[in-house]
Amino acid sequence: MYRLSKRNSASFLKSRIFIYGIFFVAAAATLLLLFFRNRPLEYYDRTEYYLGTYVTVRVASSKVSPTILAEAAMKEIERIDEKFGSRSRGIVAEINANGEASGLDRETVFLIKSALDIARNTNGAFDPTLYSLTKLWGFDDVASEKQIPLDVEITAALENSGYSKIVLNETESHVRLMEGVMLDLGGIAKGYAVDMAIARIKALDPEATGFIDAGGDIGVIGPKYGNRPWIIGVRNPRGESVQDIVEYIYLYDGAIATSGDYERFFVVDGIRYHHILDSKTGLPSRSGVISSTVISKSTMLADAYATAAFVIGKEPGITFMPRYGALVLLIMEDMSRYRSPGFEVYQQK
Ligand code: ADP
Ligand code: MG
Repeated sequence: MYRLSKRNSASFLKSRIFIYGIFFVAAAATLLLLFFRNRPLEYYDRTEYYLGTYVTVRVASSKVSPTILAEAAMKEIERIDEKFGSRSRGIVAEINANGEASGLDRETVFLIKSALDIARNTNGAFDPTLYSLTKLWGFDDVASEKQIPLDVEITAALENSGYSKIVLNETESHVRLMEGVMLDLGGIAKGYAVDMAIARIKALDPEATGFIDAGGDIGVIGPKYGNRPWIIGVRNPRGESVQDIVEYIYLYDGAIATSGDYERFFVVDGIRYHHILDSKTGLPSRSGVISSTVISKSTMLADAYATAAFVIGKEPGITFMPRYGALVLLIMEDMSRYRSPGFEVYQQK
């Protein structure tokens, strides 16, 4: 019979421990590798106040530090805020102060042209010249006194508004405002800023994913974890809290924006006066719409068409919008809904 000597059995045990040890280390390494390879990317959030609202960047990347990506996005949004965000500084202030400007850079020409195109496409429902009226109602600033203006004041302000009173000469890079008219890119700048910030992120990592939310104007950087949709909730316009969601939308790319009469308003004698104005009457629009959401390929278009759809209202008013790449969801006063054909595609999981 074969018998292990004492010495032999000890070295046998030692070599077994050694082999088990190697197995253990290899298994642990494999598990660790699998864990890190399949571990979902971690999203980094950053929120700052620009363009009169809180802007949140949520981004993840396997190549570039997400803090660097978020920083690049915020820098871009700050730049656009400085340039276009307010009537009191930047290029918009300059144009308004002089009534004209020449030697405009390409970006400024693009933004004014986009605003004028949307104004034409919506027959003035979106109008980038309503600043005098906005100021009159006190919607220019949270601190401004909210009040119902006198009829004569509204009539005078209407005379000094209207997108057809802006003359843009693209080839000469020149813009001229007719007497008394003021340019206001506030209804389009936020969406544009989101688009540009996403472009900055994509330039650093084309595969980065996440989204940017500027006060409800949301642009998708890329699908969640690379393959899942971002779920966007539309608020109950008469809900008590932001958690009160009435519609869900699933977005892999593109953009979405919501305009509502609950964002900035005041109530006098039971009547709600809100910040989205009708360029025809100079009053807060009364289309029966209380919330308007637009899905589009760019945040700039979603932002502007949401405002326009809010003013225009229900069928047949907005059936033309999909032609311009804007799918609409309207919530009416009685909480009934209207959807552009195709909108429902984005509401299926
Ligand atoms: P919302 O979140 O409802 O889109 P924004 O803050 O984006 O609101 O837009 C507000 C800006 O839109 C203000 O600068 C206001 O002067 C301007 N505005 C109000 N009514 C209109 C309109 N009919 N067309 C374009 N801009 C408008
Ligand atoms: Mg808007």
